[in-house]
Amino acid sequence: MSLRCSQKSVVGFAALGVFGLLAFTANRDSPKEATEVGQIHQAMMDSASNPQGVLPTRSKVWPVHDMKRPQPSMVEPGTTGTGSTPGTAPSDATVLLGPGSGMGAWDHDRWTVGADGVMQVKSGTGDVRSKDSFGDCQLHIEWMIPADRDCNGQGGCNSGVFFLDKYEVQILGSNPNQTYPDGQAGAMYAQYPPLVNPCRPNGEWNEYDIIFTSPRFNEDGSLKSPGTATVIFNGVVVQNHSTFMGVTSHGSKATYKKHSPEGQIRLQDHGDPISFANIWVRPLQPKTLAW
Ligand code: MG
Repeated sequence: MSLRCSQKSVVGFAALGVFGLLAFTANRDSPKEATEVGQIHQAMMDSASNPQGVLPTRSKVWPVHDMKRPQPSMVEPGTTGTGSTPGTAPSDATVLLGPGSGMGAWDHDRWTVGADGVMQVKSGTGDVRSKDSFGDCQLHIEWMIPADRDCNGQGGCNSGVFFLDKYEVQILGSNPNQTYPDGQAGAMYAQYPPLVNPCRPNGEWNEYDIIFTSPRFNEDGSLKSPGTATVIFNGVVVQNHSTFMGVTSHGSKATYKKHSPEGQIRLQDHGDPISFANIWVRPLQPKTLAW
């Protein structure tokens, strides 16, 4: 083989290599592929999985396994509560009630609270509301019915946690306790019963983890997307992305009326000495894309 021929071969192989690299790069980031991903993204934006239309505007199509994507923030997890001992909050949560917190996060201090972070309803003093407002969020709350309390339907062992001061997830001594099912512990009150009843006996701590999404409204006041809640009760799913029919009401059909997507967390004084511990909130950002 002559030197000239050899040089031609090297140039040829180099050209093929460059061409292959260009073809590979073009294939990875081709406008066609980006368009397809963009269409999928748009479908997500429009789909029922994103009824609020609150996904961020896509500024970049992330290739699969792109190391340049922002890493998720590190969070120190809290401890899990048990029937006899409340847990603790994760490091990035807004703590509404915990050891040493007092009633500082709430709009009045007429309920009793100990240094251990256990708060109890003082009957007749009124509901308490968080000073801060929250919208889409994860809420954790632990509650206990006194061991000697007699629960009789909706009487004796009743409270509730409200989102935006309006949407109630029922708190009720329910082990055992016969009442209307959409008023049992874990119910979206007067709307949906819990799927099952994992309530612990009186004298033991129960816990809810609730993922709440605020309703959204159009400019003209019509409903754009309803509020939803997923409720995990003592580790058991009792509401699976259930849809609020409207603002919680008693004995009447719930309806919506336009309001802010943020509001206070409210705990109900229903006249019963329910105890609370380890209450925290984590505001949730809009969903992030898979691409
Ligand atoms: Mg209630």
